[in-house]
Parts: sequence; structure tokens; C-alpha cells
Amino acid sequence: MKRITMFLCTLSLSLSCLSGCSQNASTTTAPAETTAAVTTTAETTAEANAEPTAPAAETALTAADMSADLVVIGAGGAGLSAAVEAADNGVENIVLLEKMASIGGTTFISQGMIAGYDTALQKEQNIELTYDQMYDNLMTNALYRLDPELTKITVENAGHTIDWLMERLEVPFTDNILVGYGPLQMMHVMGSEEAKGGMALKAPFEAALEEAGVNLMLETRGTRLVMNEDGSVAGVVAQQGGKEILIDTKAVIIATGGYAYNPELTGLLDPEMAGTFGIGHPAATGDGIIMANNVGAALTHTNHLMAVLKDYEIMANHNGNSNSANVSRFIGAPNLVLVNTNAVRFVNEKSGGYMTQELNRPIFNEMTKTDSDYVWAISDEATLAELGVTRGGEMEFLKADTVEELAGLMELDGETLKATIDSYNGYAASGNDPEFNRGAGSWAESQPMLPLEAPYVAVAVVPCEIITYGGIARNVNAEVLRADGSVIPGLFVAGEAGANSAYMGFTLSNCFTWGRIAGAGAAGYIK
Ligand SMILES: Cc1cc2nc3c(=O)[nH]c(=O)nc-3n(C[C@H](O)[C@H](O)[C@H](O)COP(=O)(O)OP(=O)(O)OC[C@H]3O[C@@H](n4cnc5c(N)ncnc54)[C@H](O)[C@@H]3O)c2cc1C
Repeated sequence: MKRITMFLCTLSLSLSCLSGCSQNASTTTAPAETTAAVTTTAETTAEANAEPTAPAAETALTAADMSADLVVIGAGGAGLSAAVEAADNGVENIVLLEKMASIGGTTFISQGMIAGYDTALQKEQNIELTYDQMYDNLMTNALYRLDPELTKITVENAGHTIDWLMERLEVPFTDNILVGYGPLQMMHVMGSEEAKGGMALKAPFEAALEEAGVNLMLETRGTRLVMNEDGSVAGVVAQQGGKEILIDTKAVIIATGGYAYNPELTGLLDPEMAGTFGIGHPAATGDGIIMANNVGAALTHTNHLMAVLKDYEIMANHNGNSNSANVSRFIGAPNLVLVNTNAVRFVNEKSGGYMTQELNRPIFNEMTKTDSDYVWAISDEATLAELGVTRGGEMEFLKADTVEELAGLMELDGETLKATIDSYNGYAASGNDPEFNRGAGSWAESQPMLPLEAPYVAVAVVPCEIITYGGIARNVNAEVLRADGSVIPGLFVAGEAGANSAYMGFTLSNCFTWGRIAGAGAAGYIK
């Protein structure tokens, strides 16, 4: 399992980078002077992850470096909303931990497109959508893999959340409400001339934090939760610079985002998805998911993530990223053929778009079955030229005049690949694919199945994870649940760290909505 070794290296590198990043820590508000050394030793995330999930009760805090009513871990969309909402609900002593040097996480690098209905902006433009339409859209896109009770809350609040961003935070939005992720005109686009997409959130949230007196501690990484003997939350251990600090608190909100940048955790939570690379925000390493799981939180829906097909070689050997390894238009070719490393087709290549589970899940499965790090995408020179497709990193795709020659470049069996391509071309000519039924299904019907012609072109591709949908189990109040369904008192979760209440188009909506629910819930708990 070559790829596992590689990803273990990647993980240890990224973990050491994360701790290294905090060496030069500075905070906007200095923590209270240390009264005693923290006696507990912080575990590395990887070590902590190896522990069983039984509640790790720990002696009540006697040596806290600082004290808070509420600690929010992670200053992305979920954590920022949680902190503001908690303050608006009367919580005074809020500490917001952020491991990076600035706030925002994935939220600020997002396109800032957020789904909603019945918003002030839609009312101005006479755009009418209903709850039922929105719920159906979300559930259909997610193939009904979402928790209905939690999803109902996400959808019900989607419009209010946008209005809250506009009214409470004064986040700028464009007038354009787009049709996206389905037929509905539901996608509101934040941004202004000065700050595009998710960056439009920065100034409003900074102002709100300051106004609310939230103690924002940058380059301070939450590493561990400390529990009271009765199973409730007692505190948070964080790493700041070279030292550990212990913050005692009445409640904690985990808002650390997803784990798309932690391939080892992905492989652990769903072995069939081993072999992925992370794209998106490098801070999405699942820290909060690990912390919560270590004190008994249940994890759920961890077989559900969004991956995007990328150029394997560029990702693996050329420090690739989402742009340099982009193969989206190659995958969109009407004569795309996907083969495994045995040179045979294994899927209806048009069963879904390049970033859907319908396409990526079978690819992950095939990589597992063949113990391979990638599958092959094949098209031809004329088609790619017509589509204007070029390879990233100033590299060339593999190209050959015959299938056998192409197979040689791919190090696949020539006879098998020839038979595979001959069969495919026969299906394309007849319009009937008896093996994988390509051409059937609503998405596939819009996708023609054209034949391949020499010269042929190939590239190895791998699904790379960008958004994770699984995570910490919670109830409708954003309280974290143990596997037996009981609540961990004082522990809340919001955003991508929490499991299963959003999908494409609704993920930003999810982080703000559940951030607010967690903030209000924590405020109620503290009182
Ligand atoms: C490129 C890209 C574009 C996207 N565009 C859209 C879009 O247009 N619309 C949409 O709906 N969705 C979009 N998404 C998804 C969406 O942005 C995310 O699901 C959402 O922003 C997650 O919010 P969050 O607050 O849960 O996590 P994040 O915004 O990632 O925030 C988590 C924060 O926690 C911090 N953190 C992590 N661990 C620790 C720790 N141990 N201690 C302290 N701090 C920690 C991180 O540094 C980060 O600041 C996009 C995703 C990507 C990758």
C-alpha cells in the first residue's frame, strides 16, 4: 500500500507544520498570567486519535492559565457566528481560539455563494421559493444521505441566516441571485469591489468581535478537551507558541471545520477513501473531530465527502493544488473513458459530474480493489483540442497514435486496453453501453457518448477531497452526542466539524446557521 505510507508522511509533516506554525505565536489579547504550569502533556493529534473513544474524565481544573465562560475553537464561519451569537445572547467572557495567524478558515477562501429562500434580497426582486423546493433540492443533490431532522433546520434557517449576515453583520452582497446546484434561483453571492467572495465577511466579523469584546487568540491551537468527573466539559488545552495553556470554561463550541486536509483521518474513518489528497484549506485537519471523539463524542456520516478529480502525477510529485492539477474539462470530454490499472472500465463515466459521489465513490472503490493510487482517464487529441484542454504545470498528457502504444506509456496491458477501447467505441457507435448503461439517467442523458479516435490521450486521476460531510454527532440544539445518544454537557459543535446537515450550495449556510444555534445554545447552558 504505497499510498498509505506516503500519506502518513504527509500527515506527520502537516502536523509538525501546524505545531511549528504556533512557535511565533502572538495574540490580540494576551492570556492571563500563568499561575502554575499545566501538568498535562498535550498529545499529538495522531497519538490522541489512537486512543479509545471512552469518555476521558479528568480531575477538575486547579491550574488554569485563564478562565472563560465560553471557549469557541476555530474562527471560521461557524466559530465567528457562534461567538457573535453567544455575545448577543449575553455571554461576556468568550475566548475564541484560532490556530492560524488570521481568522476565516475555509469560509473566507470560499466563493461566498450561499443558498437561501424568502430573503430580503429575494423579496426585493420578487423571487419566490418555498421551503419544500429548497429541501427537495438539497436532499436530491445529497441523494437523501442527510439527517432529515437536522437538514430541516438548515433549510428553514437558510434565508434568515442570509438576512442576519446582511443586517446584523452588514456583510455586502451583490444584487445577483444565481441559479445554481439545481434549478432554483437561490444562490446569494457575497462580495464587494473591495472584498470578493468569502473575504467580504472579514471586516464585518472583525468589527463584531471587537464590539462584543471577544478575546480572539490567534496562532493558538486547541489540542484537547478536559472533562469534569460528571462528564461535562471543564476546559480546553491549547498550544500557543512553545507552551501549553489550560483554559477553564463552562462550555465549549467546536468549530474547527472539516478534515479534507487530513488524508490519514479520512482513510481511518472510511478505508475505501484512502488515497485521497486534500485540497481546499490546509487548516481543515479535523482537530475538533479528534478532540471530541477522544472525550466520547460519536462520529457519523464519515463515508460522505466531496471530492474533485485531479491530475494524480501533479498532486503526488509536483506539489499540486486545485488549480495546477485541474482536470475538470478533461473529465467533461464526451468521449471520456475511465479505466483501472487492469486496463478495464469499471463505471459509467457520466454517472455524475466530476465532483459527485456517483463518480468518485466507484473510483475510490476501484483504487482500493486494485491497490492503486489512481485510475486512468482517456480521451483523444482532437476532442481535447476542441475543448481547449491543456495540462497544468506546463506538462504534457501521455499521447500515442495507437491504443497499444498508449498502454505502453501507461504501463498497462496493451491487449486488454485495446479490447476495452474497441468495446467502448462499439457502444458509442450503437449508442448502447450494455456494461455500464452510459447514456441512461437524467444527468447522463445530457452527456453524449462519442467514440475515441487516434491520437489518444491519457492522464492518471485521483479524487481529492475538498469538503467533508461527516463529523461529530449532534442534536437539534447543536449539543454533542455520545454513541448512546446522551448529550456531553457543555459541548457544542457547528459547521463542517459537525455531521450531516448540508451539501453543495448549503455548506456556508450550514456553518453560519449552526454556529448561531451553537452560540445561542451555549449561552442558554451557561445561564
Ligand atoms: C475552495 C472552496 C470554496 C468553497 N465555496 C463555497 C461556496 O461558495 N458556498 C458554500 O456553501 N460552500 C463553499 N465551500 C464550503 C464552505 O466554505 C465550508 O464548508 C465552510 O466554510 C466551513 O466553515 P467552518 O466554519 O465549519 O470551517 P472553516 O471556515 O474551515 O473554519 C474552521 C477554522 O478553525 C480553525 N481551526 C482548525 N483546527 C483548529 C484548532 N485545533 N484550534 C484552533 N483553531 C482551529 C481553522 O484554522 C479555521 O479558521 C467551499 C469550500 C472550499 C474549499
